[in-house]
Amino acid sequence: MKKDSFKVFKALLAKVNSISIISHWSPDGDAMGSSLALYHYLIKCGKKVQVIVPNQYPDFLKWMPGDNKVMVFQENEEKAIKALKKSELIFTLDFNTLKRLEKLGEVISTLDIPKVLVDHHQQPDSYASYYFHDVNACSTCELIFDLICGLGGKKLIDKKIAACLYTGLMTDTGSFRYPSVNPKTHLIVSELMNTGIVPADIHSAVYDTYSEERMKLLGYALSEKMMVMIGLPVAYIALTDEELRRFNFKKGDTEGLVNYPFSIKGIKVCAFFNESKQDGYVKISFRSKGKIDVNKFARSHFNGGGHINAAGGKSSESLHDTVNRFISLAKELIH
Ligand code: 5GP
Ligand code: MN
Repeated sequence: MKKDSFKVFKALLAKVNSISIISHWSPDGDAMGSSLALYHYLIKCGKKVQVIVPNQYPDFLKWMPGDNKVMVFQENEEKAIKALKKSELIFTLDFNTLKRLEKLGEVISTLDIPKVLVDHHQQPDSYASYYFHDVNACSTCELIFDLICGLGGKKLIDKKIAACLYTGLMTDTGSFRYPSVNPKTHLIVSELMNTGIVPADIHSAVYDTYSEERMKLLGYALSEKMMVMIGLPVAYIALTDEELRRFNFKKGDTEGLVNYPFSIKGIKVCAFFNESKQDGYVKISFRSKGKIDVNKFARSHFNGGGHINAAGGKSSESLHDTVNRFISLAKELIH
């Protein structure tokens, strides 16, 4: 765990005016929630702030306050680079390696501007000048809450900031059921609820948003494509590009799909393989229970990483070859 002190951050922030906030490729609820919460806080502190994400994010996160201020690098490369070059400080949230930004990462690595890493993934790279990193945090939103409080800004946490933070806490803990949840998680939720946010509404805004096609894709994936390995507590789903197009796939439509096989008694590892002809690779999600370390597994075999129980990776082999390689490695992962 690497954590600079609040004193260091206070002095750092006092010196700068123009700040950029960056999060990872395929931003999720914690990426957008932490970025927008920090955005609102820094605006309240009188800073000039720009949130930049590498690519588009799902519609079910677009209700979040400040969403209209987010710049998508893939759609505004020149403007984003201009904004970045003007910043005096860059916050990088919810990822541990600049590789998670694709092309935006190459841009950032060339900029001689101090970077602050705020993250809860395993083994962060050493690109940053300042660290606020803790693998025991349930989400980057928890760390942003701690950071704001540590800077003495707790009273500035309003309904907008609270809604953003709640979203990341909720999505990264599977609605408060993963082992990462502890008493502190609920204490933070309690603080956030005091601002007047309505958890049921936020849950609904994020999760009750399926299109009919997304629901049918889920049904198809579970009934036709889910494989449970014989003799191993492992299940996986692999979808081809053609199958995804058949269900009119939109960004976010497969989010959470990887977790469904855990509802089968005894399953300890789930994997989801998503072929994307557009991206030119197979994107993989791994989930595990207990001590089975999918971060290590994804790092060693699939060019990825993440957390012990939730990680991702990539493969440039065909979908068929990628899945076969996973099958042959599954035994090693379990033992
Ligand atoms: P997901 O399966 O939801 O895409 O990702 C699970 C976790 O692993 C997330 O916390 C995500 O940030 C991380 N992750 C996903 N893909 C990658 C990857 O390719 N590299 C690394 N280092 N982390 C990843
Ligand atoms: Mn996260």
